[in-house]
Amino acid sequence: MEVVCPIDAQFPQQISLLLEPPSSLQVQEYFDDLITSKQRHGIQVKPTNDHGKGVYVDLDFEEGDLVLKDQMLFGVQHSSNKIDCLVCSFCFRFIGSIELQIGRKLYLQGLGNPKDCFDLASSDGSDKEDQLEFQQCSSTSSRNKFQVPTERVESLMQEKLALPYSMKFPLPSVNICPGGCKEAYYCSKSCAQADWDLCHSLLCTGEESKSLSKKALSRFIEHANETNDIFLLAAKAICCTILKYRKLKAACSKEKEKNSISNGLSNHNFALLLKAWKPISMGYKRSCVVHNRAYGKKMMLAMGRELHESKLLHACDSDLVVASPVEDYFLYIDDLPEAEKKEAGEMTRPFLDALGEDYSVCCQGTAFFPIQSCMNHSCCPSAKAFKRDEDRDGQAAIIACRPITKGEEVTISYIDEDLQLEERQALLADYGFRCKCPRCTQEEAGLVYTKIQ
Ligand SMILES: [Zn+2]
Ligand SMILES: [Zn+2]
Ligand SMILES: [Zn+2]
Repeated sequence: MEVVCPIDAQFPQQISLLLEPPSSLQVQEYFDDLITSKQRHGIQVKPTNDHGKGVYVDLDFEEGDLVLKDQMLFGVQHSSNKIDCLVCSFCFRFIGSIELQIGRKLYLQGLGNPKDCFDLASSDGSDKEDQLEFQQCSSTSSRNKFQVPTERVESLMQEKLALPYSMKFPLPSVNICPGGCKEAYYCSKSCAQADWDLCHSLLCTGEESKSLSKKALSRFIEHANETNDIFLLAAKAICCTILKYRKLKAACSKEKEKNSISNGLSNHNFALLLKAWKPISMGYKRSCVVHNRAYGKKMMLAMGRELHESKLLHACDSDLVVASPVEDYFLYIDDLPEAEKKEAGEMTRPFLDALGEDYSVCCQGTAFFPIQSCMNHSCCPSAKAFKRDEDRDGQAAIIACRPITKGEEVTISYIDEDLQLEERQALLADYGFRCKCPRCTQEEAGLVYTKIQ
């Protein structure tokens, strides 16, 4: 394949050092520190006999116990999911209000309809006529059969219209991006600041962006949205590294005389870059190329492609899921005593009908979880990623799905484990391995696998 990124030729040595897999000792030290600092008790990351590293328990766990809560390093919401859910760009909590969530979603779905249809709502026909027009117009769309008049959607979105019992589902208020872009929103000032410091200052398209070329950045984001979110996750990995490197370098130069780096990277600075890159290299089996100074669309694309083609996306990222409070809200209304339900329903029913089956869509994305990404696959896993009622942000919660005894490896399923053997193996081939778990071994020998209880 043609070399897209000229940096490959310019820094071959540094690149191979960045791509070098960490030794098992380095891996163990890194994760021991991480587990201690995050106070994640009861688990250990250790080398396995045949597939790199794995997560083991050093306590007994019962079925249903929380084995691990893993804080992501960074994550992205799927671009298609942004219409459905307004969440904090840093911790992925739902923000605003039930009214804003519903109104915004209906509004944005309306924008997806042919324009003339949407405009009809602002003409002065009665609500009834509007509804009829909408119905006809949207019949080609797979989405709603029912539409709510635009004014109602707008007043809901602007929180002028209050839905009954919505105060039972309070959400943090919306904080805008300090850089001034209209793409990132936060649940708090602290999340906004943390995201800015972590990576968003280089990925923001607003006035205060620290990006070297906002135009190139916008084109890159557009391309990622149209093709694959994994480019955005890769961009976050790279920006995190750049910013961490800068911080390490600033801390160092405070201590001693600044080294001249006019001709490329000095050894000292390169050591800092390796350090900044560490959290990612520890998770990633093969990695991509990083340069500490400039980045543009072309280079980002090259890196994204590298991440994509090396199947890193399958090997290292995990699903990010946060349940929707809108679903809880409608379930609550449905569970009200008959009289209250009828009264509330008069107000909520049109919105529920307009949302259709999509009312319960949760926040979905992709994230890099440092410890979860060390968990190996099994088609008869001992644990699963499962959000309990109290898990309302982007942290991964791993729950034991059967008793796990001290010393045992924690495994999760990367795929739908209800599939047949051949389908499972076909999906797992995308992750670059053929599964040899007890279930696959037995089924391949023509035996019927009985689940461990
Ligand atoms: Zn937040
Ligand atoms: Zn921004
Ligand atoms: Zn298997």
